[in-house]
This record gives sequence, C-alpha cells and structure tokens, in this order.
Amino acid sequence: MLELFWLLLPIAAASGWFVARYNLLPKTQQSSKNLSSDYFKGLNYLLNEQPDKAIDIFIKLIDVDNETIETHLALGVLFRRQGEVNRAILIHQNLIARPTLNAQQRCLALLELAQDYRRAGLFDRAEDLFQELILSGEYRIYAYHQLLDIYEQEHDWEKAIKTAKKLAEISEDNLRTVIAQYYCEQAESYKQQRQYQTALQITQLALEQDCDCVRASLLIGHLFLEENEFIQAITAFKRIEQQDPDYLAEIIEPLQQCYKNIDKKQEFTDYLQHILANYGGTTTVLMLAETLLQAENEQKAADFVVKQLHKRPSIRGLDYLIDLALIKRENISHEHLLLIKDMTRQLLKNKPIYRCHQCGFTGKSLHWQCPSCKQWNTIKPIQGIDGE
Ligand SMILES: [Zn+2]
Repeated sequence: MLELFWLLLPIAAASGWFVARYNLLPKTQQSSKNLSSDYFKGLNYLLNEQPDKAIDIFIKLIDVDNETIETHLALGVLFRRQGEVNRAILIHQNLIARPTLNAQQRCLALLELAQDYRRAGLFDRAEDLFQELILSGEYRIYAYHQLLDIYEQEHDWEKAIKTAKKLAEISEDNLRTVIAQYYCEQAESYKQQRQYQTALQITQLALEQDCDCVRASLLIGHLFLEENEFIQAITAFKRIEQQDPDYLAEIIEPLQQCYKNIDKKQEFTDYLQHILANYGGTTTVLMLAETLLQAENEQKAADFVVKQLHKRPSIRGLDYLIDLALIKRENISHEHLLLIKDMTRQLLKNKPIYRCHQCGFTGKSLHWQCPSCKQWNTIKPIQGIDGE
C-alpha cells in the first residue's frame, strides 16, 4: 500500500505549496479509527466548495492511512476540479493499476479517469472507457450521457443517434426530439454537400422520431426549393403551422419564393391572411404590406400597416411605415423622417431575434441547440413589441 503513497507523493510535491504547507513524510502508522470521520469532514469541505480545506484533510488522511481508495478518488476529483487534469489522470491511472481493487471500485476509478480524459480533450480515450463501463453494467446511463456529449461536440451524429437509441432503451428519458435533431444535423451536412436526395431521406427519419420536428419540415421545404419542386416545398413549409405556429415567421419568405415561381401570388396572399387572422406576426404583416405596395400603392400599404400597428405595436412595423413615408415624401419633413428612421434602425440593429426559453440566451440567428445551455429545441423567435 505504501507504494501508492510514494506514487502520489511526487504529484503532491510537484505543486510547491503542498510541500511548503504539509509535512508529507510518512509518520509512524497511527490508528485509523478516526479515519472515516475525517474523511467525511473532508468531503463536507469539498461539497461546500472549500477545496483548500478539503486538501488539508485528505493529505492528512494519506499521511495516516494510505489504504483508503475513496481518499485517492476524492483527491483526483479535486485536482480535476482545479484544472490540474494531468494530476487527476495520474492518480486515477495508478488506482486502476492496483490489483486489489474490487470490481465496483475499479469501475468508479474508470469513471473518474474517463472524465479526466474528457476534460483533457482526449475524447478517444474517454470514449473507450465509457464504452467499457457500459459493458460492465455500472454507471451505464451516466456513461451514455457522457458519450452523447462527446459525439455532439465532435459532430459525430451517426454515433450520437446510435447511442441515444440505446440510451432510450434503458432509461425513461424521451430522446425522440433529440434524435430527430441529430438526424437534422446529418441532413444539413448532406444538404451542404448538395446531396439533396440523401438529405431528404434523413429528414424523413427525423420526422419518424418526432412528427412535430419543425426543423425537419423547414429542411424538407428548402431541399425541395433547391430542386425547384415548389408544390412539395409548399406542403413541407405549411406543415409547420400544425407542428408549432411560433415558427411561422421562418416560412414566409421561402413560401413567397415558391408561390412566385408557380405564379400563384393570390394563393400566397390568402395564406398570409389566414396566418395573420389566426396567429398574427409582424413578418406576416410586413409581407402583406409588401404585396399591397406592389399590387396597389404606398397609401394602401401604409393604411394596412397602421391598422395592424394599432392592434399590435411593433418596432419593425414602425420602421416599415417610415420607409413608406420616405417614398411618398409628403407632409412630414424628410429630414425628420430620416432621423426617426435612424432611431428605429438602431433599435432593431442590436435586437436579438431568438430566445432560449430554457436559459434565456438570446441571439440573432436560429440555433436548434442552445449555445448556452446545450438543450435542443428550446430556442424560438421572440414575441412582442420588439419581436414578431
Ligand atoms: Zn438555453
């Protein structure tokens, strides 16, 4: 047992203050009766985020009795938490090398080592160890979640999908929406490589997992749009109304493109009216105003926007109204209008458009996985005066 202590000693000694603050030379063997109370005291410090005091206790423990595996495990965790991952790795590797460990202790040490590797960015090694744990049957659910995090970080969606499916078999988590997002990630990369047919097949798999997957419908719509299949694109985009009307603003522009290509502008206007009547939305109002501007004149478009602004104030609506007034140049001084326009433009310039309803993260582009809390499907267009 002493040899482990000697293995640990250089690690501890390597950080100078350890040597300065503690007498690390082994004392004569003392009774280990007080060990467990000290151990829990140390743990308590750990839990209360007082690592310095915890190190005090644990070092003392090693000094008294180096047989306590938990102490070494806790010390390893401590090093990792303080960012000294290499030391944590050494401690855990040494632990695993001990032939006296029982199966459970070995698994615990493996789990810690896997987390060290992950923290150090050694994903391959971490992956191997998490797989080993899954095979052993210990910490399976935790290991699966760790693997998912790794695959997400590496954008290895194939493995992420397989892992999430296995996890779904043994846990009660509903992973269908997440798996659908993984499929969408895969489909997006095929779309970028212009492999539209493959991308399309994969989005279908996403919908099989989660029939309310807005992202899949958007993708399918855009894929058909790329292939000039406008009718099918329209069907896909329109599905979003049933899936989650909060995202309707995303389909207005692509729909306009589709209807324009099949020369059915009236149908487009009718659909916009339907959306407006049922869900509102500034994007819809502005698109309708734009069609009025083209079909009729500025006055008709302005009257329409004013009427809508009374019902639902919106900075974007106001901004558009100024644009119309600038075309007409009547009554109001052009200079004043430019001033107001400058203000609304500034107001809109730095406004986030999307918000995560899980953690409150806001941004200007639509992320399907929140960059802040890493949840999937939690970001939506912002509603209200400065939003939709
Ligand atoms: Zn979030």
